[in-house]
Amino acid sequence: MSEKEKSAGQLLKEKLFRSPKNAGSTLSDEELKAAFDYCEPYKDFISTCKTEREFIDWVIPVLEKEGFVPFEAGKKYVAGDKVYINNRNKAFMFAKIGRKPIEEGMHIAAAHIDSPRLDLKPNPLYEDQELALFKTHYYGGIKRYQWTAMPLALHGVIIRKDGTSVTVTVGEKEDEPVFCVSDLLPHLAKEQMDRKLGDGIKGEELNIVVGSMPFRDDEVSEKVKLNIASILFEKYGIVEEDFQSAELTIVPAGKARDIGFDRGLIGAYGHDDRVCAYGELTGILASDPEYTAVACFADKEETGSDGPTGMNSKMLAYFAEDLGRPYGVPGHVILENSKCISADVNAALDPTFPQVHEKMNAAFLNYGIVVTKYTGSGGKYSTNDCPAEFCAEVRDIFDGANVVWQTGELGKVNEGGGGTVAKYISRLQVDTIDVGVPLLSMHAPMEIAAKIDIYMMHKASEAFYNAK
Ligand code: MN
Ligand code: MN
Repeated sequence: MSEKEKSAGQLLKEKLFRSPKNAGSTLSDEELKAAFDYCEPYKDFISTCKTEREFIDWVIPVLEKEGFVPFEAGKKYVAGDKVYINNRNKAFMFAKIGRKPIEEGMHIAAAHIDSPRLDLKPNPLYEDQELALFKTHYYGGIKRYQWTAMPLALHGVIIRKDGTSVTVTVGEKEDEPVFCVSDLLPHLAKEQMDRKLGDGIKGEELNIVVGSMPFRDDEVSEKVKLNIASILFEKYGIVEEDFQSAELTIVPAGKARDIGFDRGLIGAYGHDDRVCAYGELTGILASDPEYTAVACFADKEETGSDGPTGMNSKMLAYFAEDLGRPYGVPGHVILENSKCISADVNAALDPTFPQVHEKMNAAFLNYGIVVTKYTGSGGKYSTNDCPAEFCAEVRDIFDGANVVWQTGELGKVNEGGGGTVAKYISRLQVDTIDVGVPLLSMHAPMEIAAKIDIYMMHKASEAFYNAK
């Protein structure tokens, strides 16, 4: 139908109503190809970096190749300089110094690089019924029943008493063994099946099977545990006490995979929130920023952002202070003039469970990144509620760069809720808005994201960093 054939009502409706569209229908062929191409290295990345430490081990060489160097507090930096700060190998920040004077503020994008998982306890190894197992303490919000009877990998680091360290990754290569949480056979699960779903697997039932073969010596007890301890000593030079100064974690084994005949989706462990961190990284590398561009990768978001590597620490505030000191600019002045997109995943409407969403304000796969004015729960408790002025600015930036985006609330009012690192940044007087990739099955061992939305996170970051 041509323009002049449209009725007055149709034209008025077009002018006045929102009209969200599936980007799978609206993107040009070139853009669609760009989105799919962008996701190929992303799949390698998300398959390789399963912990915050692994992300940092991976990102430092990437940045150094691009000319980034360790930040020196108090040094005068000029436009085009590139610096990074490694906070305890668990949180990370890097920046491209912009052309504007530092007192005019920074453009910050923040994401978190930790994901829900099963951490080993400080004394994990034991033998029961002639099997060797690890005790775990789960990290972050998981549905525990999802973690049984599937291949799991061990990732982490052990620091020996003398300070030397050993990095551990077992279960990712084809020829390596994997680990597993056993579950009851249905035939004998009568009592278990009567439990509420949340208690289907209790916290102390997330025990990892790590061995079955006894040490061949009839003079000793705990032969299977001894055999495992002996293998660990041989391979890593560690004794049982070394677990007490380790960060070892159990994550789903295996690589990210395309999902669907049309390959439009990616299933992977830990999209939350390394998918946003990746978009920030590629976005900042592609940018030519007017304002100093900062990417902040925080740890501990899944457990409340506490500790020296969480976003509720002083890492961003101290960075601003250090950056401003040689110019006599107080850190708070830089922060007050700064702007931030807090990039974290959001819930996409799941066709099997639509009842938890309010459709007018839900996010959908393939509708682009989700912009969320406020998070929190109940009557907007514990939220960063982004000022309408900054919402308008971000709309304009994204529209100006053809970023496909949508709005989304995390579920119906009073259905649950959650927060992000946004409130820990906005409390520093930084205008902050939540932006992120919509997911199905958030926090599950395999989370689902759409390739178009993953690509839009990159475009959104680049546009935000380039904003005048
Ligand atoms: Mn998250
Ligand atoms: Mn999360």
